[in-house]
Amino acid sequence: MAEKFFQAASAKPAEAASDVLVRLDNVRKHFPLQSGFIASLLSGGHTPAVKAVDGISFVIKKGEVFGLAGESGSGKSTVGRLVLRLYEPTSGKIFFDGIDICKLPEEQMRRLRARMQLVFQDPLASLNPRMTIGQAIQHPVSIHLSHLSQEEQREKVLHILEAVGMIPPESYFELFPHQISGGQRQRVVLARALVTGPELVVADEPIAMADVSVRALLLDLMMQLKEKLDLTYLFITHDLATAKYVCDRIAIMYLGKMCEIGPLNEVYQHSAHPYTRALLEAVPVPDPRRRRTEPMPAGEIPSAINPPPGCRFHPRCPLAQANCAVDEPPLREIRPGHFVACHYAEKV
Ligand code: SF4
Repeated sequence: MAEKFFQAASAKPAEAASDVLVRLDNVRKHFPLQSGFIASLLSGGHTPAVKAVDGISFVIKKGEVFGLAGESGSGKSTVGRLVLRLYEPTSGKIFFDGIDICKLPEEQMRRLRARMQLVFQDPLASLNPRMTIGQAIQHPVSIHLSHLSQEEQREKVLHILEAVGMIPPESYFELFPHQISGGQRQRVVLARALVTGPELVVADEPIAMADVSVRALLLDLMMQLKEKLDLTYLFITHDLATAKYVCDRIAIMYLGKMCEIGPLNEVYQHSAHPYTRALLEAVPVPDPRRRRTEPMPAGEIPSAINPPPGCRFHPRCPLAQANCAVDEPPLREIRPGHFVACHYAEKV
């Protein structure tokens, strides 16, 4: 039954000539704050806004797992929602398969959403406790594939339940979210995202809430489904150990800006931004005899309402020079496909 689903879901229209599925050009997302004395003070008297994403550009190629990593507050989850146009950008352009989605009327955007889906971090919070598993998965089918009969919609739900390892699928159809395990709930959330046959899945910390014992199984399942369903993932995580396991390329974000982008092995083996270095140093080492030489950078991530001038990382950077507090470093290519925003990348 699962194979039938895979074949049907992979039968997509002929691809455009480009191998790029998603493109962001200089995208900003500023969330205005309610004006008040403290907000005004923090923003230096200007209209206060949280600069969650502040001028980022990157592409996601068809069929790749593109990782987006950074600490909490870096803006990575906001990027995920911008890609799906769940947030409107403050400025900049976002393309999906060559289509400028910011200009699409709502009705066309609604149809395009069948080709892009979001997997949330917390499966319990994202599933309606009053809907059965079957109803939850059938809901997007009834919206995006409304031409199908009730029987065909049910068949589709059963196929995808089987595809995510909920076997036999009929036995899960009438259960409620609280009647299955946490790992099974995450499979249901995956099934709900994949049932309409999307090309892009934005996975926002997809295993962060799962029990440690099932995390590797869920990642394996996601990678198997990627191959069988010809998916592209935007994989958002704070955990570089997890990213290493699944990503083809990775981008590191800090306070709404891109620090470093490149092929995964290149960035991990030749990281050239002090922030990336610090994140990599924070990855747990299985061998207790090995000691870390560099700790995480000192201090908290600064306010995104009034971010530091110049390089945003300069207040925490162990290599900062005087010009770092004044001149913003551009993202520049230091090796083929490897981009870094640091004035002193060659010295890192
Ligand atoms: Fe550190 Fe300066 Fe590079 Fe920013 S530009 S990461 S402050 S060395």
